Amino acid sequence: MKPFPEQAPVLQFDSISYSPGTTRLFTQLSLTVPVGACSVIMGPSGAGKSTLLRLGAGLIPPDTGTIFFRGVNWNDLTDHDNALVRETLGFAFQNGALWANKSVYQNIELPYVYHRPKAPKKEVQEAVTRAAALAGIQSQLSLRPSQLSLGEQKMVSLGRALVMDPPVLFLDDPTGSLDAQSLEKLLGLFNDLKRQGRTLVLVTQDPTVTARLADRLVLMKGGTILTEGPFSEVTRNPDPEVVAILTSVLSQASTFSTDILDLLSIDHEGGGILK
Ligand code: ADP
Repeated sequence: MKPFPEQAPVLQFDSISYSPGTTRLFTQLSLTVPVGACSVIMGPSGAGKSTLLRLGAGLIPPDTGTIFFRGVNWNDLTDHDNALVRETLGFAFQNGALWANKSVYQNIELPYVYHRPKAPKKEVQEAVTRAAALAGIQSQLSLRPSQLSLGEQKMVSLGRALVMDPPVLFLDDPTGSLDAQSLEKLLGLFNDLKRQGRTLVLVTQDPTVTARLADRLVLMKGGTILTEGPFSEVTRNPDPEVVAILTSVLSQASTFSTDILDLLSIDHEGGGILK
């Protein structure tokens, strides 16, 4: 297949509609997420954040409209090209989405099994070991998912997303159920990945994660995009609906004593109180 156009947005939704069940969730939704840096998708539960991420990753097709990933229309791909495109995209699932009857090692190895079944065993072993170490689960490789906490299962899903060293990572609530120390490590890892020039698209309701990682925010409500743009613009948006959502979403999830809106209006780039 042709190389990805260099400056193509990581995601472009063109007037998509989608009904996951009997109820319409998205109606003619359009959104462009630029390549590079970290875009955080926020909004109340049920807003459609996870579904949007899955659609963007080509895991589910929209009913109508078109979705481009790095300039490539998911619909236009042959099975062969679809597999090549998928290799460049790591997806960490909110609930882990692990295979119960496989070990942690085998779960992390899965992208190799599907995409590069002929890869030398040593290469796969090294990749799994590296990804497990990045996700902090290197001592649990022989365990089954049921022997892990929910937080650890999410880390296995993250390891699986990292195993092929993809330039793009979609992360669905990657820090939920983590203790403070693991969260700190993960924020360090995500910032390293950003510095390496990778694109992160992240669903979270955690204010620490948002304040420390987000370069851009996409704010959703009831299947619509309320507003989106650079972090500093969205968090200074005076629209009462935007302020209400930022406040409610962030305070729902926050255990901080700090005033959340103060937190968000700090000089983000300059290293605010959370840095
Ligand atoms: P969020 O991630 O913002 O919490 P979701 O994307 O998970 O929201 O879900 C948005 C809405 O779509 C919810 O009301 C949810 O119940 C519905 N939904 C998502 N997936 C399905 C499905 N497979 N079948 C029926 N309804 C679904």
